[in-house]
Amino acid sequence: MSVKKRTSKNVLLDTALENFYGAAEEMGLDDDLIEILSRPERSLCVSLPVTMDDGSVRVFEGYRVQHSTALGPAKGGVRYHPNVDLEECEALGSLMTWKCSLAGIPYGGGKGGVSCDPSELSMTEKERLTRTFAARISPIIGEWTDIPAPDVNTGAQEMVWFMDTISKMRGSLEPGVVTGKPISIWGSRGRTAATGVGVATCVRELLKSEDIDVNGARLIIQGFGNVGTYAALSMANSGAKVVGISDITGGYYAADGIDVQKAFKHVSSNPKRTLDGYEQPGLKKMDGDDILSQETDVLVPCALEGAVNAKNAASIKAKYIVEGANGPVTPDADEIVGGMGILVVPDFLANSGGVIGSYFEWVQNLNGFFWTEEEYNHRLIPIMTDNFYRVWNYSREYGVKMRRAAFLVAIKRVADAVKMRGTFL
Ligand code: GLU
Repeated sequence: MSVKKRTSKNVLLDTALENFYGAAEEMGLDDDLIEILSRPERSLCVSLPVTMDDGSVRVFEGYRVQHSTALGPAKGGVRYHPNVDLEECEALGSLMTWKCSLAGIPYGGGKGGVSCDPSELSMTEKERLTRTFAARISPIIGEWTDIPAPDVNTGAQEMVWFMDTISKMRGSLEPGVVTGKPISIWGSRGRTAATGVGVATCVRELLKSEDIDVNGARLIIQGFGNVGTYAALSMANSGAKVVGISDITGGYYAADGIDVQKAFKHVSSNPKRTLDGYEQPGLKKMDGDDILSQETDVLVPCALEGAVNAKNAASIKAKYIVEGANGPVTPDADEIVGGMGILVVPDFLANSGGVIGSYFEWVQNLNGFFWTEEEYNHRLIPIMTDNFYRVWNYSREYGVKMRRAAFLVAIKRVADAVKMRGTFL
């Protein structure tokens, strides 16, 4: 490889580039394809003036990055978080390209977001911010160009504001312009649980491949938001013992198993939607970070990036890590846990149920015809299972880690598409 490698001070982007270059080199990818795929196709920075409830005006910064549209419209979420910047969106956008490619769905990858702390914003401020953001990035989004979705701190409500703004601007209903909408407004049954159900499918197939009985297998799920909750519920339904869960209020460990249904009801019924105050016999409460180093068979980090890092990696006792979040294991930590014999199922395989679910929603939107939840899961689970084994078998056959195997499979499909479509444009 004779291309000059790009690097970044942003850890997420630097990691994404390093992973890409490493895999590209291993597969002998042509230099011109490396140059093309190491950069986003299009990045848009927007400023977002928002009238606050007290009448003052605050200007926020927003971004939308389309990393690749070689396989189809760019696809990926929109996050609201103080850390959001252009480089983070670029990194996460490239991860979406590999995720959609690996999942075998007809999408490229993108990501967007607004640098803000949504906990400081009222509902009406959030609505104005979302509508302004949608209007500002409107020229580059559409059901055949770029389709945003929920991500960290955004959900069904933000997606409805998004769809409504675009529809009003264009003078016609545009349900397929975003996914992750509520069921009543062109959303899809099954989409809310899809990421967690997909993560659980990977955990089950992993245990099966390793000859471990799912019944009674121990799991710790870090993060009890959308992904963690549904992964926990699905695993508990399969007979696994979820021994630990956590959220911003701390870690909750019970050697005999957390009553996941009860914890779910607790979170759903309190206004802050946290685990604070959750009780059951034999429950040990601890610091949120300490949950990561408790005894378990599988650790499933489902919160933010960097949860397992160089500082805490050596304390992990799990035999397996299944990445429910995007980038929860840092590259240094990946090396450390690899050396300890811990197998990691990478994020863009494990959490791809979300975007596969988005694809199902978009298909239903284009057809104006809706599926039942059974039909949805009936399609989701076999796709997740196939994708798991595609990576698992490749990793076994070529003796590479699952993350590297996933990159190799994903990059190949995108590179083939770029090669066939050529460089016009
Ligand atoms: N934000 C989710 C992800 O990172 C879903 C993206 C989508 O559905 O487009 O995979």
